[in-house]
Amino acid sequence: MTTQPESLEFKAEVQQLLHILSHSLYTEREIFLRELISNASDALNRVQFEMLTNADVRDPELELAVRIDFDEEAKTLTVSDTGIGMTRDELIENLGTIAHSGAMAFLKKLEAEQRIGDIIGQFGVGFYAVFMVADKVSVTSRSYLPDESAWTWVSRGDNTYTLTPAEKETRGTTIEIELKEDAAEFASAWRLEQIVKKHSDFVSFPVYVKDKIANQQAALWRKSPSEVTEDEYNEFYRQLTLDFEKPLLHLHIVTDAPVDIRSVLFVPRHRDRGMFRMRPDHGLKLYSRKVLIQEDNKDMLPEYLRFVEGVVDSTDIPLNVARESVQSTRTMGHIKKALRGRVLKSLRELGEENPEDYKVFWEAFGPFIKEGVAMDFGGRDDVAPLLRFTTSKSNGALVALSEYAARMIEGQNDIYYILGDDLASVARSPHLDALKARNLEVLYLVDPLDAFMVQSLREYEDKPLKNVDDPDLQLPGEPESPPETPAADALSPEVFGKLIMRFKNVLGERVADVRESKLLKDSPCRLVSPDSGPEREMQRVRRLVEQDYTAPVKILEINRGHALIQNLARVIESQFANPLIDLTVEQLFDNLLLLEGLHPNPAQMAPRIQEVLERAVAASAPAGEA
Ligand code: ADP
Ligand code: MG
Repeated sequence: MTTQPESLEFKAEVQQLLHILSHSLYTEREIFLRELISNASDALNRVQFEMLTNADVRDPELELAVRIDFDEEAKTLTVSDTGIGMTRDELIENLGTIAHSGAMAFLKKLEAEQRIGDIIGQFGVGFYAVFMVADKVSVTSRSYLPDESAWTWVSRGDNTYTLTPAEKETRGTTIEIELKEDAAEFASAWRLEQIVKKHSDFVSFPVYVKDKIANQQAALWRKSPSEVTEDEYNEFYRQLTLDFEKPLLHLHIVTDAPVDIRSVLFVPRHRDRGMFRMRPDHGLKLYSRKVLIQEDNKDMLPEYLRFVEGVVDSTDIPLNVARESVQSTRTMGHIKKALRGRVLKSLRELGEENPEDYKVFWEAFGPFIKEGVAMDFGGRDDVAPLLRFTTSKSNGALVALSEYAARMIEGQNDIYYILGDDLASVARSPHLDALKARNLEVLYLVDPLDAFMVQSLREYEDKPLKNVDDPDLQLPGEPESPPETPAADALSPEVFGKLIMRFKNVLGERVADVRESKLLKDSPCRLVSPDSGPEREMQRVRRLVEQDYTAPVKILEINRGHALIQNLARVIESQFANPLIDLTVEQLFDNLLLLEGLHPNPAQMAPRIQEVLERAVAASAPAGEA
């Protein structure tokens, strides 16, 4: 074995990153310490876990702690831990390369964000923050594996680093930092203690500055909720997630029976947090008696609540349980049920008590709730109250199903909804004619997920949900002004029959049938589905996901009392061959496709509209003046 330093090159993206960091003028340079402590704490967690499951760990008696030392004269700083340590290969792997192209993603984000401290830890490049304050960094590490020896990794933040065998008797990692001229302030007890307090207060191992513990290492979740202030919850959230915005909601759950649970959970304000994190994975931190046994546990909450962040601790989870079997115990079943219940309850309360915050929640996480309605079979009654809709009466505001139910008219037992692509087109849909006339409210379902969701949500509190394009729709109440045809304008069955024939001839196989509508009021016609079951929603879902899916043809319903229809019938009577007739039929049909979000062929539509206009204008122009 040679003791000559062996020189290696950093990967290109690491070189680029180091160049930026070591020349940076960021004011938040102090966060380098947070990143080093966070790595030390990870390493301590990991060795703690090894000791529970593996008998052969070097130096099992060492105190699990982080120690910070400094020399004001020499302008040096040392951060050491008794964590899991690194072998020679791990030093190369962890400090010489960056997995998941985190560096590139980080650099991109940095261009846009400017606030380095908010993001650096999220990309798996936290260690390199040390080069904001260091001229030279030496990392000496000895792995917990009894057969491994110690190695020193040294870099000046340029393009290379060296590796040398080292003398280090005990397990863990020591990082020695030669501070830059302008970073001498960090070699001070006061300053170091202040930074630890600010950024690493909740790290669960002691962090010593010289011989003094600088963090409270309190397991916040093991305190009584009455002892914890709002600020402490927010600070805990920040240290847990690196999200610098306050959470929307926190829950502190304390139960003793049937299982011991101590949990602090958060609902973030926004959805995109951590998109580029090294561990983009969701999940809760799972502790047993303050020992971290799993980082991203996914079994504690139903999948659709994966936006929830936090910590769960239970003394009833056996410490030596293997990670894989954690999910299968009965205790876990109890915990999951309790957490799910509490999260849904808190969200329902937020909806009732703070509609403004709930709106923020709904905009960020509404899709997850819809997923919950579809997936949480059996628990739907808990989830459905979290849904919000815009409706034909809400003027753009969000309405809960309970509000809808409270406004139902006399005799109404169904909840009506319309599916469509956007609010503007559903609001103008002919399907709404008859419902508006009866003062019936209609839910506007314009999110692609909605079609998927209503297939599962067949009813709410015993009130069935009904699609307004249901061909057998029966409506309660009387229309305010019934769509009654003035006797003078009434079309004879014979004349109306000819009109229907004409529509059938022109549209051919593009419609399943053409018939009179009993419900239309202000619109000349509408399209209804030939199927009345949930297949309609499924067709909608398929149209969105399958590129060349063609929806089954629909039934065209005609409003016998509408002036346009009546005039058209008369033109058919008197000028059977007038080209305007077929043009009008085609255009009425395309209008309906547009309203249904079925996208007619625009290449045919524009010339047709032009022709209709030409004929209409020509017919209106006084004769002989051209
Ligand atoms: P991240 O912590 O997000 O993985 P870092 O750049 O902070 O990214 O650290 C890179 C890797 O280096 C860590 O994942 C870990 O494997 C290793 N590492 C860093 N510091 C230590 C330490 N004190 N003890 C053991 N391993 C460490
Ligand atoms: Mg890190």
